[in-house]
Amino acid sequence: MNDRHPSHSRSLDAPPGDTYKNAPLTNFVHQENQDKMRKALNEMRARLGKEYPLVINGEKVFTGKTIASINPSSPDDVVGAVAEAGIAEAERAVKAARDAFEKWRWTSFEERAQLLERAAAIMERRRFELSALEVFEVGKPWMEADGDIREAIDFCLFYAQQMRLIGRPRLTQLVPGEESYYHYWPRGVAFVVAPWNFPLAILGGMTTAALVTGNTVIMKPAEQSAVCGAMLMEILEEAGVPPGVLNYLPGKGSVMGAHLVDHKDVDLIAFTGSREVGLRIWESAGITRPGQRELKRVICEMGGKNAVIIDSDADLDEAIVDCTYSAFGYQGQKCSALSRLILLEENYDRVMERLLKAAASVRVGNPEEPGVTVGPVIDETAYNRILNYIEIGKSEATLAYQRKDVPPKGFFIPPTIFTNVKPNMRIAREEIFGPVVSVLKVRDLDEAIAVANGTDYALTAGFFSRSPANIERAKAQIEAGNVYINRSCTGAVVGRHPFGGFKMSGGGTKAGGTDYLLQFLVPRVVTENITRHGFHAS
Ligand code: NAD
Repeated sequence: MNDRHPSHSRSLDAPPGDTYKNAPLTNFVHQENQDKMRKALNEMRARLGKEYPLVINGEKVFTGKTIASINPSSPDDVVGAVAEAGIAEAERAVKAARDAFEKWRWTSFEERAQLLERAAAIMERRRFELSALEVFEVGKPWMEADGDIREAIDFCLFYAQQMRLIGRPRLTQLVPGEESYYHYWPRGVAFVVAPWNFPLAILGGMTTAALVTGNTVIMKPAEQSAVCGAMLMEILEEAGVPPGVLNYLPGKGSVMGAHLVDHKDVDLIAFTGSREVGLRIWESAGITRPGQRELKRVICEMGGKNAVIIDSDADLDEAIVDCTYSAFGYQGQKCSALSRLILLEENYDRVMERLLKAAASVRVGNPEEPGVTVGPVIDETAYNRILNYIEIGKSEATLAYQRKDVPPKGFFIPPTIFTNVKPNMRIAREEIFGPVVSVLKVRDLDEAIAVANGTDYALTAGFFSRSPANIERAKAQIEAGNVYINRSCTGAVVGRHPFGGFKMSGGGTKAGGTDYLLQFLVPRVVTENITRHGFHAS
């Protein structure tokens, strides 16, 4: 064991503060739940094509321009038309958020926590409706959609609980004659910029963290999931968020988004998305603009190139099922998805034989149908980009498997596996964000760990083994923000698996962790000399 090893502090006692109970998942084995989901899908289908406004200072605003959100399983179907914000609306939203901050910052943390709890209750009430929307708007299979709503509920409840734990000022040391209190102030106006792949959970998690800590928010969804964003806005309004405290501003990231990143009156940017955009935001936010009050805080979660190592003695019954799901679940469009599978020479043939059969058993199709694992990728741009990577793979490595039977209409990419992949190849280095796996063969565990770590990213990783010594090594040496042993490398649970990476995967902040809210706050200490002063009677 070495000093970096977390097992040093391992204890079977519940950690202090472990009082959070996660929201349950929906079990679609039960007929009743299947019926509810089918009904929700039918009702949602009847609502497709509606128009949704921006919300600035509590007012619904239509701009004359819209973002059309389309169904990736059936690109002719418009899920909704969402008003598009430009620079003028962005300016109005910043002003509204700035003005609302002066009151919201002094609202008690208890009131703010209760807002999140009411939002969670509304999401629970509208759970099937929200899941159905995700099936249509972002192509999520039923269980994945439900998982996203569950995570959004968990973020609300967990951050409400965390705020209560850190909200009260804390005495620093007990000394005679003096009192010093450590406490937090909100930062100001937060610009929340989200991706489309967890359209309620990630947008909702960053937004509710900002709100509960007393910041006011401009909430920008990804263009592809702007209807889900509109639903979240509706939910938080119903929960009672005051006008101006939360503003809904869908629009082009490269135009309106970039404008707000640079804005002197934006104090905090909470971003989750690609490395390319994340790095641009990180750099741009580092420039101080005339009139700017604060150093901008950037919370930045980016992509991954996640590796799983299967050790020579691993239980393949477990490893194959979990790796197949980690790679192809939700079409490989989770930031945590497995994209590099590292196999030891010793069991390479055995693993490959079973992996190819398992890949052939995965159900590909329209996620409106229950039991589908691989649906469509998000849009035409992603579809063309992933197909291009498959062509690159064919030129660099060996195409070992590709599904034939994918639906002809919609953005369906066949699950694909490449072998003879070398660490320096593009398909082993660049994030593909689709159902494509690169298999790398190595001599031994030393080489396996070196290959796993030999990437710019450090988001998730996995290790399958029955050797306690090798498991200890993997725990100590694999470079990733979330390392999973003998289980899938996707499906982080709020509070239990605080999520986020380092290196080029992110700034080391952990969504759903106990220190996440601190990113949204500035710490402050007030010290008072409390020896007798003969104070004035008033
Ligand atoms: P993206 O970077 O293209 O877009 C993310 C958001 O940034 C969108 O809202 C977009 O409109 C906005 N944006 C684009 N250009 C901008 C600019 N110049 N200024 C401000 N905002 C701008 O990412 P995506 O395609 O929506 O999401 C997929 C990516 O997100 C993948 O790389 C995935 O790995 C990553 N991701 C990471 C995590 C994590 O927790 N680390 C979670 C989910 C997704």
